Amino acid sequence: KRQGQGQRVIFTQQLVQDMRHHARLLRDLKQDLDSEGLFLEYQPQIDLRTGKLLGVEALVRWQQRNGQRVPPDQFIGLAEQSGLIIRLGDWVLRQALKDLQSLLQRVPGIRMAVNVSAVQFNQQDFEQKVEHCLLQQGLQGSYLDLEITESVGILGSDAVETKFHKLKDLGITLSIDDFGTGFSSLSYLERLSADRLKIDRSFVAKLDASASGQRIAQMIIGLGQRLNLQVLAEGIETESQLEQLKVMGCHEGQGYLIARPMCLNELEGWIDAWRQ
Ligand code: C2E
Ligand code: MG
Ligand code: MG
Ligand code: MG
Repeated sequence: KRQGQGQRVIFTQQLVQDMRHHARLLRDLKQDLDSEGLFLEYQPQIDLRTGKLLGVEALVRWQQRNGQRVPPDQFIGLAEQSGLIIRLGDWVLRQALKDLQSLLQRVPGIRMAVNVSAVQFNQQDFEQKVEHCLLQQGLQGSYLDLEITESVGILGSDAVETKFHKLKDLGITLSIDDFGTGFSSLSYLERLSADRLKIDRSFVAKLDASASGQRIAQMIIGLGQRLNLQVLAEGIETESQLEQLKVMGCHEGQGYLIARPMCLNELEGWIDAWRQ
């Protein structure tokens, strides 16, 4: 099913092992979600020209009871397939907004970027949920940025467009995550009125190595300029990548060169150091 409709695969022992492994992971994830075994880390997003801290991206972390960390790439997909992503996503949003509340005292105007999966986004009452969470924390929507990955079944339909507009009415900004790896067509980029494109880190990684990496980054930045969108480069790891992106006119960035994702406490320390 994962490979699409009408596919078949030959049975192997490996398939059974994978299925068992996934079922166990999912069971553990459910338990840990109930017992608060998940936490968030935050990665700074800065203005590449001035170095100013603009926002942070919330990234979910799962540490199992045995101390082992499972990376999101290994459990977000499972949570999506099983529907658990709804509860997980609700928790992430609530927690991120709570932490935003305290970050705003330190950095007025800082924004919080939260990843939203297509399954969450497609919930009928998604906008109401988000609005409710904002109200609970007494926050304006303009401090919240939702990152939505370009994927089939989410971008492009009229229903999605309507949803985008409702969220935007709350003052929320919308970013297209991993841009360049998915399926969005240029025409609906315009219709959706997204606010920001996030250049996928695979293109940033290629900046040092190949001319094609440079061309793609340059193209996305140019597209952003044409459509009046912010462009944020993710996964900046080297000075040379940073320099090239600046020269190309990229506004915003995040990556290990600037800071790794950190827990709230560490982030507060980082903010004080970064200011100096
Ligand atoms: P993403 O939203 O594209 O997040 C960026 C990923 O790149 C993060 O991985 C981050 O730790 C990593 N990263 C940041 N800077 C660098 C860098 O300089 N070099 C390299 N190599 N990596 C960098 P992470 O935290 O493992 O998350 C992976 C993906 O899992 C995210 O990709 C996002 O799609 C998903 N995810 C994470 N948290 C959530 C969440 O709360 N909800 C949902 N629905 N998805 C989430
Ligand atoms: Mg993201
Ligand atoms: Mg991304
Ligand atoms: Mg990603």
